[in-house]
Amino acid sequence: MLRMGVDLGGTKIELVALNAQGKELFRKRLPTPREYEATLDTIVSLVEEAETTLAMTGSVGVGIPGVISPFSGLVKNANSTWINGKPLDIDLGHRLSREVRVANDANCFAVSEATDGAGAGKGVVFGVIIGTGCGGGIAINGRVHSGGNGIGGEWGHNPLPWMSKQEFNSTSCFCGNHDCIETFISGTGFVRDYNLAGGNVTKGSEIMALVDAGDALAVAAFERYLDRLARSLAHVINTLDPDVVVLGGGMSNIDAIYPKLPEILAKYVLGGECRTPVVQNLYGCSSGVRGAAWLW
Ligand SMILES: [Zn+2]
Repeated sequence: MLRMGVDLGGTKIELVALNAQGKELFRKRLPTPREYEATLDTIVSLVEEAETTLAMTGSVGVGIPGVISPFSGLVKNANSTWINGKPLDIDLGHRLSREVRVANDANCFAVSEATDGAGAGKGVVFGVIIGTGCGGGIAINGRVHSGGNGIGGEWGHNPLPWMSKQEFNSTSCFCGNHDCIETFISGTGFVRDYNLAGGNVTKGSEIMALVDAGDALAVAAFERYLDRLARSLAHVINTLDPDVVVLGGGMSNIDAIYPKLPEILAKYVLGGECRTPVVQNLYGCSSGVRGAAWLW
């Protein structure tokens, strides 16, 4: 059986085709046309090319940077704004003559890592993509938990837990709220915080190079970052108590996070004990597209 996954990103649309064992048989990416009909055309052409090349047909799952609203059946919350307000799953289903499943990209990430990645064999996986933004997703027994409102796992737009006076009302978010977790623990938030403290960098990796060199300002910024990440994940653990937390996105490549986080997490998790593993993903930027394939 062939499973095709499509990752509909803001700059590229990528398709992978997996066999039943998860082996990749086909992969191709094309630029994302910033227009709805052309976006449908591109996805259809990728599916047709995969099926022609492999001489097989299969299922199609699509990961998007938003969700299909369970209320309206239309895409919402996507930063690829031209797909908002459209019945993407229905339109693709018509064009491809089959049912097409659409899910949030962070949920796809969680499903991928739960299926055969860093969370393989775990019942409840919380996946977090921490890059320019911050998205969370929940996989339960390998399936997406999108929830009745379609926003399961979207904890990045909760307020930062246990805010200090200095943190309170210190950031604003594109979603319209203040002090969202995303504004502190995203790569963008890490850089903003360090620069506000007197630094001058454009990327988190520059701060980490300064940490390695023993720069006091950078070390302090990284300590603030770890504490905020721990506070944010402690809220998830106190609510969902997942079997594993898998990190993805650019910030997940900072190796220094993993040995330091457990001790700080235990300070914030109720009862003062925490053995929830927080681990780096296995499939990196391929996780989204693999998870879309695993929607079936
Ligand atoms: Zn927000």
